[in-house]
Amino acid sequence: MNKYLKRTKIIATLGPASSSKEMMTELIKSGVDIFRINFSHADYEIVHANVNMIRQLNQELGTSVAILGDLQGPKLRVGVVEEGSYLNPGDILTFTNEKIEGDSTKVYMTYTEFPRDVKAGERILIDDGKLVLQVTETNELDTVKAVTIQGGPLSSKKGVNLPNTNVSLPALTEKDIQDVQLMLDLEIDWIALSFVRHAQDIIDLKKLIEKHPNQQRTPIIAKIEKPEGVKNIDEILMECDGLMVARGDLGVEVPMEEVPAIQKILVEKARHHSKPVIIATQMMETMIKSLTPTRAEVNDVANSVLDGADAVMLSGETSVGRYPVEVVRNMAKIVKNIESTSFYVQKNAPIEKEFNCIDSRFITNRICLAAVRIAKTTDVEAIITLTHSGYTAFQIAAHRPNSHIIVFSSNKRVTTMLNLLWGVHAYYYDGTKSTDETIIQVNQMVRDLGFVEEGDFVINLNATPVEDSGKTNTLRLTTI
Ligand code: PGA
Ligand code: MN
Repeated sequence: MNKYLKRTKIIATLGPASSSKEMMTELIKSGVDIFRINFSHADYEIVHANVNMIRQLNQELGTSVAILGDLQGPKLRVGVVEEGSYLNPGDILTFTNEKIEGDSTKVYMTYTEFPRDVKAGERILIDDGKLVLQVTETNELDTVKAVTIQGGPLSSKKGVNLPNTNVSLPALTEKDIQDVQLMLDLEIDWIALSFVRHAQDIIDLKKLIEKHPNQQRTPIIAKIEKPEGVKNIDEILMECDGLMVARGDLGVEVPMEEVPAIQKILVEKARHHSKPVIIATQMMETMIKSLTPTRAEVNDVANSVLDGADAVMLSGETSVGRYPVEVVRNMAKIVKNIESTSFYVQKNAPIEKEFNCIDSRFITNRICLAAVRIAKTTDVEAIITLTHSGYTAFQIAAHRPNSHIIVFSSNKRVTTMLNLLWGVHAYYYDGTKSTDETIIQVNQMVRDLGFVEEGDFVINLNATPVEDSGKTNTLRLTTI
């Protein structure tokens, strides 16, 4: 019964381990709310097939599973290197702009401005920080030399992080610009931008989206995985529509011990802006190969939920792992368990912020907060609202009401997009009846969907009078 659904959402990355119809069906039934398509690896034919399959499954299963398209961004890599290449501490490695096959002494670097941007003394991290080097000299043209500090095997096409270097690459690469066009053609629900450094990176993507003909603007997730992104988080939050705490690269770009505190700060700030926040990477990493997660992983998922995440994300676990369905089942169990504790309920208090009375959304914002306060003290099962843009759903979800948030919209695209938000379930509804009749109809639908039973309290939020199709200004508390 839908009444007992978890509130925190699960994102599963699609890949070779999870792209069949049977597997995707099982994943949705086990608790996946959003599928992520990682464009770092995506083949356009497979992207088309996956998107069509998700939409077909939504029809067949009556679900609103959302699609998140994740852009690679300016990810740096080394080129192909000879099998068995190895770096020992003290070894000098030469980075060149020439497309050579590398070995233990020299390697191709995909980033052509590297010799001009880097300075002696800066660090080069390869393969998620497993190899650590320090720049000794650059000819400012095509060659950089670095000394190995932490050694290990050097293998082909591994990612490179330059935490101290001011990388001059734009946030949107040529590949990203092409990938965005495909995402927009396919009307994907959310676009994630990697390695966001400033608000301008989001503004550039928005401009690109605006140029596309068939748009209602696709919302943007800013992936925070660089020190500049953390530093500029307030300006970034003014422009983006949601955040991802991208702990994989973040833990290499900033000292790893700082990641837990950054996660907590980012979650709080995102909620304060009424924008959803995703916690990503290595949540159930050992389940790529094993049927049992570590106790530390179980704790990490539960603690991320406690921190106030809207969604927790799986990457390799579902894209290339051996047990995609089992990992989602385990994650859903962990999420549901921690959500049922009294300290979770207490911890997620409504956001008490000053609303500006000259803001055009002042009335809606106040009504949403009032709804959540009543819901918390009256044991309300569902807050039911109608929306065109999804605005009220963002507001209510950010306050974490401990009720389901059931949204009806005549805008089909909004119903899947909202599936990323904490506690939100959205359905299509295009009635234009009076407020009284609308409430009767939507409450019956919510009951038919199994979110509430006879005797439950619900709150209805509406815009009256209906014929003005205005903003939410009315709150009604009723029993089913
Ligand atoms: P990625 O982003 O998987 O695209 O690298 C997530 C992360 O860095 O944590
Ligand atoms: Mn990343």
